[in-house]
Amino acid sequence: MDIRLISRTSTMKIPSRTLLVSLLVMPLAAQVLKPTPALPPDNRLKADILLVVAHPDDETGVSAYLAKLLDQHKRIEVVYLTHGEAGHNNMGPERGISLGAVRETEVRHSLASLGIDNVWFLDGRDTPSQNVLQSLGSWHHGLALEEVVRMVRLTRPEVIITWLPGFFIGENHGDHQASSVLATEAFDTAGDPAIFPAQLAAATKINETLLEGLRPWQPKKIYYFSDAQEQDQFKDSGPTYVTTEISPSHNLPYWRLAMDAFSFHLTQYRDYIEGLSKKKPEEQKSDWGDPVGLIFGKSLVGGSRTGDVFEGVTPAPIPFARAIPSGEEPAHASLELAGPWGFYDVFRREHALTQLPKAAIPEIAINHGQTLQIPLVVRNNSPAPQTITLSVTAPQTWTVADYTSSFSLAPGELSPVLVQVATPATDTNTGQVKCRAESRQQAIGEVELHVKLRAGGLPQ
Ligand SMILES: [Zn+2]
Repeated sequence: MDIRLISRTSTMKIPSRTLLVSLLVMPLAAQVLKPTPALPPDNRLKADILLVVAHPDDETGVSAYLAKLLDQHKRIEVVYLTHGEAGHNNMGPERGISLGAVRETEVRHSLASLGIDNVWFLDGRDTPSQNVLQSLGSWHHGLALEEVVRMVRLTRPEVIITWLPGFFIGENHGDHQASSVLATEAFDTAGDPAIFPAQLAAATKINETLLEGLRPWQPKKIYYFSDAQEQDQFKDSGPTYVTTEISPSHNLPYWRLAMDAFSFHLTQYRDYIEGLSKKKPEEQKSDWGDPVGLIFGKSLVGGSRTGDVFEGVTPAPIPFARAIPSGEEPAHASLELAGPWGFYDVFRREHALTQLPKAAIPEIAINHGQTLQIPLVVRNNSPAPQTITLSVTAPQTWTVADYTSSFSLAPGELSPVLVQVATPATDTNTGQVKCRAESRQQAIGEVELHVKLRAGGLPQ
């Protein structure tokens, strides 16, 4: 309490300090902050690892590794971009937002069983599609980034772990990839004092609701994980952790802790979970005992690609490091895949992640009989006008719909093109669609898309 301030503003005889407080200070205090010593950031929220994912159950891919870290007294916190309110409910009639509320409870119990209590849910809606851009649109990308940056500044993680940003068969949920795009963007911006400055401004009023008093925070490393069908493509991309060691705190192998934590996800996997409890331990181990593989993203503190996640990490904070883009757009006429595939080319370049694994040939899995949408962009980055012709080839039983095949582009101009290909209802299971662009009888670009036809899965 600032007695000097009160004395200066009072001309009354004050009988006691207590009365003084009740009579005079309260109206003043409503407007002016009392000068208290500056508090450091709340240490109860400090994280060693911040896991940023999209839905309740997304933690499963790394939960055995998280259990191991908890035995090493690492502080782990989790951010979910959505409540996972899409999909079916095996436990009751609750759907939509109510199902999301149930799934939040399930995953809170699941993580608490491992020893993780600080769990945050942001405002994104579960958006089932294969297109990362639809999820980013659904979440109002800028607003979602502000939320994720806030979580990074609040929890001050040394390391961020998130889904792999990339389009792979198997890893086909746009929400997963959108959570990883946002986590990567937050890694590169949370330390920047020019980004979301209202989060960083100190409070000026007692009832402050706009200025948040956070501090910039630069995480030291970012790692990714993927549920792509073909895991061999990630070999040697990062550290691998066996899950068969016994946890000293639980006296069970780490895979078993992960399996037990998973058993809370009943709205999604009731039949599987009930069946799991009837399986023999060796069968359970064969389902759950694989190592956890991470994919190295980047490090600002050194360490090797396949070395331990905490290699090079020390408690001292590090300064903001602006991402230096690697590579640039071609300086000639070109044809490229657009949509999520093209976005990832730009994303990897802008976030200096060009070493991240990507499919050797761009790929997608869709249902038999579905019409495949292939977004392309024809670009003229040359200094002269160009007339560009486009041709498309697909397997014999697939039908290519009419598309724009000729473009006159001024220097610097570009044109989007959508190629649509109807796939057969049966017979084939894979096919390649090739798109080729020419200018003055010379090829300026060729795009190939590997297409797998199979039942189930999300819409494109
Ligand atoms: Zn998910």
